[in-house]
Amino acid sequence: MDFQPDAGLAAFRESVRAFLRTHLPPDLADSQHGVRSPRAALARWQGILNDHGWGAPYWEKEHGGTGWTPQQRLVFDEECAAAGAPTQDLFGQRLLGPVLNHFASPQQKAEHLPHIFAGTRLWCQGFSEPGSGSDLASLRMQAVRDGDDYIVNGQKIWTSYAHEADWIFLLVRTDPAVKKQAGISFLLVDMRTPGITVRPIMTIDGCHHLNETFFDNVRVPVANCVGGEGAGWTVTRFLLNNEHAATAELPALVRFQRQLRTLGATLRVEGQPLIRQTSFARRLARLEAELQAVAMMVQRVAVLEQDHSPAAHVLGSMLKIRGTELQQKMGDLLVEALGDYGAIAYPEAHADQHEPLPHPIAGIGPGIASEMLFRRATTIYGGTSEVQRGIIAKLMFQL
Ligand SMILES: Cc1cc2nc3c(=O)[nH]c(=O)nc-3n(C[C@H](O)[C@H](O)[C@H](O)COP(=O)(O)OP(=O)(O)OC[C@H]3O[C@@H](n4cnc5c(N)ncnc54)[C@H](O)[C@@H]3O)c2cc1C
Repeated sequence: MDFQPDAGLAAFRESVRAFLRTHLPPDLADSQHGVRSPRAALARWQGILNDHGWGAPYWEKEHGGTGWTPQQRLVFDEECAAAGAPTQDLFGQRLLGPVLNHFASPQQKAEHLPHIFAGTRLWCQGFSEPGSGSDLASLRMQAVRDGDDYIVNGQKIWTSYAHEADWIFLLVRTDPAVKKQAGISFLLVDMRTPGITVRPIMTIDGCHHLNETFFDNVRVPVANCVGGEGAGWTVTRFLLNNEHAATAELPALVRFQRQLRTLGATLRVEGQPLIRQTSFARRLARLEAELQAVAMMVQRVAVLEQDHSPAAHVLGSMLKIRGTELQQKMGDLLVEALGDYGAIAYPEAHADQHEPLPHPIAGIGPGIASEMLFRRATTIYGGTSEVQRGIIAKLMFQL
């Protein structure tokens, strides 16, 4: 693996910076707080990227993506995070998009891909069910064939942003008689279809990200099955590999790093900048070293995936563990560094106070505690750390 500095990369970074300077509207630059930008900001930013030909920064050129190298993608993520640009739709861009590119029929591609590019259709992921999370292949949601449709019945849980999504990609059991992995299919379902009910689950951060999603005799055209009936497990394995790299959330890590550096330079403890405090400086240095390692791992996994190397799977699991643990550690340090201001759990909590918060706390403090609480979940979603460790052990030691 060659990590020599690429002479063209500096020029590429400058072109991304120039684009952000001219195309990122100031009101959108403020919308990056929290784990996901509000729907309106996310959709608007996606439209701007698409108009510039950057609608799919992670896809190959043959699929209409930018065709950027893993290093270029990293630079793009870093610069967008540094400029405070909104997040992109993880589900459409990073999870479903690559699946459609590889497995979908021409009709399915024509129906969905333009909307993913333009940001006009947001997606959610309907995999987990009560009792079927880590053991996903045990899922019970049933899809029974009726002419040109399936009739879908059952429940999904922890469906992130189902309340905002236009469509859902869904795992269902189409054949209960065969080996459990072989009886699963991957369906695309319009969330406006009669029979779908979405109920909120409030999380410890006090926000609404999660839902229970109920399907009661929901009619889904057979034409919406991706990869063919019974191919759901193959499609899912492909998708989960991409999810590991995405859940490391490099842009969020870069944002945390920037905020920690700002606090270190500007907050004062006993008349000295915070960074002069040995305990803070030591922790920040350690986290920055870990961040560099995660950034290299992201590139490595991307290159291995491009080469269809089996090592991508095990490294993806390692990256999932390292990236998500680092999010938690950086979030913890931010809250601690902010002291009393770190306790302002929600951005709106300070809105009615007369005294404005001092710089740079105003831009960092409000909401950081709620984000830190939410990020407790990063080591659970996308496959828990325990399950990832099991995968690593199995693959490394051929158990
Ligand atoms: C914030 C959040 C967002 C989510 N978003 C989505 C979403 O959008 N769509 C979706 O489909 N799902 C989503 N999920 C669900 C997520 O994928 C599951 O929570 C996860 O896979 C774990 O499954 P579970 O909750 O059923 O826990 P369980 O599988 O019941 O696990 C319980 C405990 O047992 C441990 N365990 C289980 N099996 C093993 C094993 N083989 N070896 C060692 N330890 C094991 C686990 O590590 C965990 O500690 C989300 C979850 C969270 C918290």
